[in-house]
Amino acid sequence: MHRFFVDPQQFSGDRVSLPEDIAHQIRNVLRLRPGAAILVLDNSGAEYEVLLRQVDKQQVVGEAVAKRPSPNEPAVQLTLYQALMKRDKFEWVLQKGTEIGVSQFVPLVTQRSLVQDVDIKTNKQARWHKILTEAAEQSRRGRIPELHPPQTLAEALAAHPPQPGLIAWEEEVGLGLREALGGGERPSHISLFIGPEGGFAAEEVEAAQAAGLRAITLGKRILRAETAALVAAALVLHELDIT
Ligand code: SAH
Repeated sequence: MHRFFVDPQQFSGDRVSLPEDIAHQIRNVLRLRPGAAILVLDNSGAEYEVLLRQVDKQQVVGEAVAKRPSPNEPAVQLTLYQALMKRDKFEWVLQKGTEIGVSQFVPLVTQRSLVQDVDIKTNKQARWHKILTEAAEQSRRGRIPELHPPQTLAEALAAHPPQPGLIAWEEEVGLGLREALGGGERPSHISLFIGPEGGFAAEEVEAAQAAGLRAITLGKRILRAETAALVAAALVLHELDIT
């Protein structure tokens, strides 16, 4: 069944009016007819089974006939703090991270980031939001991951919430990801910090440790930043997303 995220205000009781971009998809691309069923998500974690009632040039309107919690959200909320990289690589991490199950993305500016601009233009924010939305629809997520404004590592550490945090450091040899996650209660929230192409500086890792994060190794091979992000995210969710 086709899945679409809409703003909650598109609902009025059981009636949902699809915004023009989705209406266009339904009418002209998918050529769905009245009576066809779609899934509509309001980004609250719920999904609605909707039967199309009206499909014409003026509007596309459906009726919600069932509501249920989306079964596909991970049991642990993973926040990925990702050093900014060249555009295509960063966007790849947003897309694939969404598929894997990342809940929040925080773009980071670090000492060795190639991109040092904390002010991301509005059009880029919109583009990123579209990537997240499409990846969430495609991977059957119940929520679109949240995208935070870019921040420096120092800002991110100062604002880090009281939840376990891991920083993947290419110079770390002792602590592996599984050991770092083992023991104690399974957390409901966790953070993962991934460095830029040039890696983290030692003093950045020290600052992260002083803020309560634990430095981990992802193994003997050095991964490219975008590979490290996805491997680490997948491993964290593999260990913790157990329902
Ligand atoms: N230029 C650096 C490598 C940077 S890799 C060098 O040659 O040493 C980019 C980021 O991916 C790192 O900052 C780290 O966060 C992560 N990463 C890659 N491989 C890793 C590994 N084996 N262990 C831990 N983190 C790793």
